[in-house]
Amino acid sequence: MTDSKPSKKRKIEDECRVFNKEWTDRYLFTDVRVKAVCLICHDTVAVFKEYNLKRHFQTKHTNFGSNLSKQKLQRKATDLIKRLRQQQTMLQKTSSLQRNATKASFVLANKIAEQNKSFAEAEFIKDCMVNAVNVVCPEVISKVEAIRLSRRMIVRRIDAIAVDIQEQVLTASVSFQWFSIALDESTDIQDTAQVLIYIRGIDKNFGITEELLSMESLKDTVTGRFIQQCH
Ligand SMILES: [Zn+2]
Repeated sequence: MTDSKPSKKRKIEDECRVFNKEWTDRYLFTDVRVKAVCLICHDTVAVFKEYNLKRHFQTKHTNFGSNLSKQKLQRKATDLIKRLRQQQTMLQKTSSLQRNATKASFVLANKIAEQNKSFAEAEFIKDCMVNAVNVVCPEVISKVEAIRLSRRMIVRRIDAIAVDIQEQVLTASVSFQWFSIALDESTDIQDTAQVLIYIRGIDKNFGITEELLSMESLKDTVTGRFIQQCH
């Protein structure tokens, strides 16, 4: 597409899509990263284009500030920006709190799996943590309460960890120069014999990866077929 009127001067903000600070007082907008945010309704406008901001302000907030002097309107805009920044900080804090709670839930699920504990014990652990924290540092109780440790959640976490470990082994196995497989036999709580398959691989930098590759029930005659499948 070519410009039919090359002589027509375009405004710099139209060319570069830069947020013009004057739009804050004029249309009550501010820039948050790559978007323009309306200070009144917090709607976002994806493109830094004066026409879009002006249209938003004129259609949605027609009479906003019409009874205010220019100075008062500027002060109002400053206040609204401050409030918006506070809200954003609050949201960031909440999301980092959620992130930490999720991480803690994974750490505990991993421990439960490592120690062969019953999944239901996580609920008991949480109960203990909540009670202890309530005594020692009640000001952070909400952080502990946010850690999800229900039995169902632990199942989901352990599944996710298993998938992740599997992907890590698969990724590492691509660079194995040599590998060996070790088998071990064990029985589960229902007395079914299980064969445990371990892999140990070494890459060209002598980095060693050792992991439980699979666990298979020994119901009938066992052949080397499933070991090949794992490989
Ligand atoms: Zn608005």
